[in-house]
Amino acid sequence: MQEPLIKLPPQVRKALERLNAAGYEAFAVGGCVRDALLGRTPNDWDVTTSARPEQTAACFLDCRRIETGLKHGTLTVILDGMTLEITTFRQDGDYADHRHPVEVTFSPCVEEDLARRDFTVNAMAYHPERGLVDLFGGREDLASRRIVCVGEPARRFDEDGLRILRAIRFASVLDFTVEENTSAALREGRGLLAHIAAERIREEFCKLICGVGAVRILEEYRDVVAQIIPELEACMGFDQHTRYHCYDVYGHTLRALSHSSADLRTRLAILLHDVGKPSCYTRDGDGGHFYGHAEKSAELTGEILRRLRFDRATEEAVTALVGAHHRPIPTDEKSVKRLMQRFSDEDIQRLVALWRCDRLGCAPEFSTPDPALDQVLPTVERLRSANACLSLRDLTVKGQDLMAMGIPAGKELGELLGFLLDRVVDGELPNDRDELLRAARNRWSSLKKQDGFDNRT
Ligand code: ATP
Ligand code: MG
Repeated sequence: MQEPLIKLPPQVRKALERLNAAGYEAFAVGGCVRDALLGRTPNDWDVTTSARPEQTAACFLDCRRIETGLKHGTLTVILDGMTLEITTFRQDGDYADHRHPVEVTFSPCVEEDLARRDFTVNAMAYHPERGLVDLFGGREDLASRRIVCVGEPARRFDEDGLRILRAIRFASVLDFTVEENTSAALREGRGLLAHIAAERIREEFCKLICGVGAVRILEEYRDVVAQIIPELEACMGFDQHTRYHCYDVYGHTLRALSHSSADLRTRLAILLHDVGKPSCYTRDGDGGHFYGHAEKSAELTGEILRRLRFDRATEEAVTALVGAHHRPIPTDEKSVKRLMQRFSDEDIQRLVALWRCDRLGCAPEFSTPDPALDQVLPTVERLRSANACLSLRDLTVKGQDLMAMGIPAGKELGELLGFLLDRVVDGELPNDRDELLRAARNRWSSLKKQDGFDNRT
């Protein structure tokens, strides 16, 4: 027997069989077909069918069903542990607001459903007996590794501006190129992105910057990037006039990015680490300077990430990384501990990556990373396994102990604890209860003496 073109997971087979047995057509469709043909593992498996949502529901009465997409014909079914989106063949009517079809009508045939899809490689359906339904040359475009619109590109982008970003997102993730007409139309239409909800832009943009082809796409589609993050436009072509950099700010940024792993926060931090440079630029006899640019970049990063509606945790972590990217690399335990007080271990890994990539993105004669970088993570690990004291929680002396010594609760008591913690972190005092109590007593009495003295004068 011939090997099937695509090996469907048993749950997908079962879903197709059930729908077929009830007299409906059904296919695996879209991204899962594309990824399976490429030998990639699909993120999720989608099914398209001639059954109406209520008819689909009747085929899966024994399964948990989620009805959130019913308006668009989608029923989510959990079948033997797999979440499947089953959507009725659909035809989209006219589009309003460059994003949403005014009316969605159900259609009796898979051909119409495929015609509404964005790119040829996303517009294929598969059934184990009927084989591949490929009306727009999707398979050929997979072989040539290119993103091509289904139908007339300008019209398709005008219908839904998000497709502009999706085109270059797929090109980045799959490491494809964008076919010439599709490419010209997306550039031309980039202003349409202004109509698209920030959340949707964020989702596609995150996938884009983590793709294997990210650097190439961010370089080639500077104009689209500028549409999404206008702050980066000022970096494009901005000559740094310093011997450390032979690239413009954006060129350096992309070079740095090319050395990073695909971790989202690391990539965001690298992409935005110098975004404040143009507004901090000064020049003297020594060349260009960017005093205060890390702080300025952090400020802009916060604004950009909030505008794109990133979650708070990502916004705060990335902003902190950007703000710290120009600091000296810690070479001793004391400064590594200071770092550990501010950053989680994962974020320290990201900061080390940022430092390394920033250096690798410099002019060739300055692009060798500082060997001190290699010591940071092992030091973190050593300090962690030794349970190093880093916060008030770790300190052997608590507020109650100081109160028992007669120090009143309040601001001064907090400052005294902070003083003890600083001494312990810096290695000037051991984290030993008796020693710390003694130090607290001495500190307190000298502060009080000082107070008395100040009151007299
Ligand atoms: P991923 O691997 O990221 O999930 P995907 O191709 O599955 O990629 P989805 O966003 O999950 O992408 O969409 C599923 C399918 O729905 C696409 O393959 C495409 O056929 C269709 N589709 C999604 N968004 C659009 C759109 N904006 N315009 C037209 N068709 C779309
Ligand atoms: Mg998908």
